[in-house]
Amino acid sequence: MNLILLGPPGAGKGTQAKRLEEQHGIAQISTGDMLRAEVKSGSEIGLKAKAIMERGALVPDEVITAMLAARVSRPDCAKGFILDGFPRTAPQAEALDRMLTDKGLRLDHVIELKVDDAVLVERIAGRFTCANCGTGYHDSFKRPAKDGVCDSCGGTEFTRRADDKAETVAARLEAYHRQTAPLLPYYAAQGKLSAVDGMASMDEVGRQIGAILSGKA
Ligand code: ADP
Ligand code: ADP
Ligand code: ZN
Repeated sequence: MNLILLGPPGAGKGTQAKRLEEQHGIAQISTGDMLRAEVKSGSEIGLKAKAIMERGALVPDEVITAMLAARVSRPDCAKGFILDGFPRTAPQAEALDRMLTDKGLRLDHVIELKVDDAVLVERIAGRFTCANCGTGYHDSFKRPAKDGVCDSCGGTEFTRRADDKAETVAARLEAYHRQTAPLLPYYAAQGKLSAVDGMASMDEVGRQIGAILSGKA
């Protein structure tokens, strides 16, 4: 099963992709996580991407599509993948279609997570992540059961993203509305698009996605 989760920054793509990865044994592919790993390692891609990400703009399509092509060829994608944060532009969507055709693969569903901008700002401001295992948390909406200790791995170090500050969020939302939202009609025309209420609780969003995947939505 090959899926795209499409939605603005903070919509819950990463949260839901991690659940789907566990439930279905398919790989979460987060281009944002991949880029942050490149920045951390100081690679050539990382050096190019760092300043762009910090101002909330999109990294050039060629860089992203090359990175993605290498990623979907890895063995953990054999049962399928969940694209989280890709594609974000029309050229990326077209490159993905060509890549899938070349590999004899198809997209099963594109799932849009609909969330109002005001809620996104609050979600992004409170987001933090376990530095050890990458589990996502929120200051108000998903605190660890024991303060300062990761529920998943017991880790005690947490990180906040450099681009999750108020000044950058407006630029990221703008990039979504201008460059990524136009992909919704592209996938609707392919008959692949379904929407879920991303403002609902994490469990309810997960339930709505499950209904789409099982053909019951
Ligand atoms: P994205 O990957 O789309 O940017 P995340 O999955 O990182 O979004 O979610 C953004 C923040 O909002 C995280 O702190 C996460 O814990 C929280 N969050 C995710 N889904 C929900 C939800 N349905 N209700 C409330 N908070 C949520
Ligand atoms: P969010 O979870 O808030 O939606 P991501 O982690 O997906 O954000 O992306 C963080 C940043 O990484 C983006 O603002 C952008 O600079 C860059 N990025 C991630 N994916 C892409 C992509 N597919 N195309 C271009 N830039 C990307
Ligand atoms: Zn952890």
